[in-house]
Amino acid sequence: MQHLYTPGPVDVPLSSRLAGAGPMISHRGEEWSQLLEEIGNRLGSLLEAEGPVILLPGSGTGALEALTANLVTPGSEVISFSCGTFGDRFREIVSRRGARIVAVDAPRGGGFTREEIRDALKSHPRAEAILLTHNETSTGVANPLEELLSEIPAEGPLVLVDAVSSLGAMPCYPMEWSIDGLASCSQKGLLAPPGLSVVYLSERAWEKAGRTICTSYFFDLPLHRKLLQKRRPQNPFTPPVSTFYSLAASLRYLEDYGYRSWFARTRRSARSFEAACEQMGLKLFIREEGFRSPVMTALEIPSEKGGHMKQALEEIGITVAQGQGNNSATLRIAHYNPGGWPEICLLAGGVFGAAKRCGLDVKDGFLEKAWDIWNSEGDGTC
Ligand SMILES: *Cc1c(COP(=O)(O)O)cnc(C)c1O
Repeated sequence: MQHLYTPGPVDVPLSSRLAGAGPMISHRGEEWSQLLEEIGNRLGSLLEAEGPVILLPGSGTGALEALTANLVTPGSEVISFSCGTFGDRFREIVSRRGARIVAVDAPRGGGFTREEIRDALKSHPRAEAILLTHNETSTGVANPLEELLSEIPAEGPLVLVDAVSSLGAMPCYPMEWSIDGLASCSQKGLLAPPGLSVVYLSERAWEKAGRTICTSYFFDLPLHRKLLQKRRPQNPFTPPVSTFYSLAASLRYLEDYGYRSWFARTRRSARSFEAACEQMGLKLFIREEGFRSPVMTALEIPSEKGGHMKQALEEIGITVAQGQGNNSATLRIAHYNPGGWPEICLLAGGVFGAAKRCGLDVKDGFLEKAWDIWNSEGDGTC
């Protein structure tokens, strides 16, 4: 049996996999409209936000592309905060749209502070938008978005956020935090198969989109919104019906558990597993605890051993992700659909065995450390 711990795609609940096997129906019929309504309501309660959530055939990158095509004006100034590969990707997409990029880069394995946001805004008062990553999956940095965004005045630049690896797995409240454009996808925190881009816009972002010429017909968000807001909601183009079925089931699964309890659950697993890794003597990639992702563990393994570790884990049935270049962690292990304490033992035991096999000098006593943190983290809500 293979255990999947990559930061996307993630292990999907059985109910979601089975739902995907449902019959094809017409996407112009009543049944489809009801499904769209149900998914919209559930996403609204996850985001604790009003207004439509747009689902487009695509992936996380597609959602970033959709935000860019609808909200970035060619020639405008955009401040791009990046802490890794995905921050760089968002920057590249916006740059291809013809924006003038002001690049602000975090140090390797670091995130951003309020001061950095404030300074960048002061130096670039004409910026039309800023780009931020919520959870940078290449390094395992989670930016304290709520705190960072409190620095941005209401008439300030549009705030566009890559929430591709955070939505569903950790608190993310675009309305309360004043995010103008949020991009995500189906196959990470939402626990569904790949295939859907998820986009949410604030009221002022919808106004901006109405004034912006979107050169993409497929990603024309106002067009999607118009059909979604009909008495019987619809999509402009043929949607991936099976993935919608699965997404609805995954959202039911998360909602039944309780979103906030779920966030506490992913976090508890990550922290407990990380305590085990540290006890073994393995190095966590993110030094500053406050920046550590609550849903992904990033390890820094000596470069020649990193690839071997992934291979050694694969051989015992555990699939994890390798690094993504120089600024990335060498081994990345995600906790999107956490299986509780037994799973921590499986993962920690697996990493211990693989590290030994690779000739790393790892210490024992790690389950005891993990158990301590498991209990002190508790399963309270966050
Ligand atoms: C996975 C990921 C992406 C890209 O998503 P795709 O679905 O592979 O297109 C973008 N940003 C972040 C932070 C991610 O984790």
